[in-house]
Amino acid sequence: MAKVLIIGAGGVGRVVTHKCAQMRDVFDEIWLASRTKSKCDAIAAEIDGEIKTAQVDADKPSETADLIRKTGADLVINVALPYQDLTIMDACLDAKVQYIDTANYEPLDTAKFEYKWQWEYRERFENAGIMAVLGAGFDPGVTNMYCAYAQKHLFDEINYVDILDCNAGDHGLPFATNFNPEINIREITARGRYWDEGRWIETDPLSIRADFDYPEIGVKPSYLLYHEELESLSLNLKGLKRIRFWMTFGEKYLTHLRVLENVGMTSIKPIKIKGVEIAPIEFLKEVLPDPASLGPLTKGKTNIGCIVEGVKDGKRRKVYIYNVCDHEEAYREVKSQAISYTTGVPAACAGRMVATGAWSGKGVFNIEEMDPDPFLKAVSDFGLPWKVVELDPDKAYNLPE
Ligand code: NDP
Repeated sequence: MAKVLIIGAGGVGRVVTHKCAQMRDVFDEIWLASRTKSKCDAIAAEIDGEIKTAQVDADKPSETADLIRKTGADLVINVALPYQDLTIMDACLDAKVQYIDTANYEPLDTAKFEYKWQWEYRERFENAGIMAVLGAGFDPGVTNMYCAYAQKHLFDEINYVDILDCNAGDHGLPFATNFNPEINIREITARGRYWDEGRWIETDPLSIRADFDYPEIGVKPSYLLYHEELESLSLNLKGLKRIRFWMTFGEKYLTHLRVLENVGMTSIKPIKIKGVEIAPIEFLKEVLPDPASLGPLTKGKTNIGCIVEGVKDGKRRKVYIYNVCDHEEAYREVKSQAISYTTGVPAACAGRMVATGAWSGKGVFNIEEMDPDPFLKAVSDFGLPWKVVELDPDKAYNLPE
């Protein structure tokens, strides 16, 4: 049996806590800590059985390490914000416990989406004899594992990957982001990038569009974006020639975003107002709806998956591996919409893998370096079943060749 400490009591933290509570066969003690303890207590009150709560400022490694020691946790699931990744990793090194997260470290002042800072911890984790598993949400996370599964079972060599992320949920509000607005807007307004024959090709933000027909949803305009899993997958997939990432956005959402960008509200550069330094995007976050409040409002489905093309037994092969998740069903089960659900279920399942020893190692690993089989089984058992559909390798399915 293991003790788990979850850090971060936002939309994703809520789902991770609910899901860990469904894994009492593995976790005999569950702690939820965050900057605002009352948010932890509210989540704990939704769940049968004890969830212990605590206040922590995860920007402070020694405070976090003290909490880890106090709880006796064997592993930490970090679902605070990407800004806290390194300080929580420092705390895990100090207290010698395993670490899991769902998003790469981001410095506050630059939008980079790079693993380099966390990869620099490899030696320290190896020397401490503990493991860190990076990117254990849905994308990155499950999408990486669909690729790892394809590499292990379906292909001798993978040449092309397109990751397709569709959120067809409708919350009825004029504009809201479905996870942390700061991170979400940073990601979308950045220049696009994909990996082609060993080189990164840059594109203007949202300048490449493909109208893809998502199973159980229909045709949705999808835009090429850079997304962090491209960095690790381009290194970890054998024979890869190209990998791209696509995300759907509605016209209304894009119009709001364009206006906010044009008036300077999405900038991450701090400005001084009445003696107070604040980045416009931080201010914007405060006036936009809290993503957690979208749960009861959102209807519709998400479809996230990968089209993988390569060679098997000397023949070309193309498969589509995906999950469909329903916002209202997710809310009924754990009081969160599907975006938080699809992130929190895999994070809890990664915790299960580490706690049971299904995954082990010393160092810092991207999730696709772990065995996909027990993980994908758990992800399916705990609410996110997936399908593998055989496609015609001669067809492009509306994606640019
Ligand atoms: P939220 O903003 O809803 O929640 C973040 C939580 O972290 C809040 O409870 C916040 O506390 C807490 N927090 C922030 N700073 C600190 C700190 N210094 N110390 C302690 N707690 C802190 O975000 P989400 O739940 O939507 O997202 C959580 C993570 O999941 C993010 O890193 C996000 O990038 C990632 N994510 C990953 C996805 C994937 O598929 N891989 C998809 C979606 C999200 P407070 O309430 O006091 O502000």
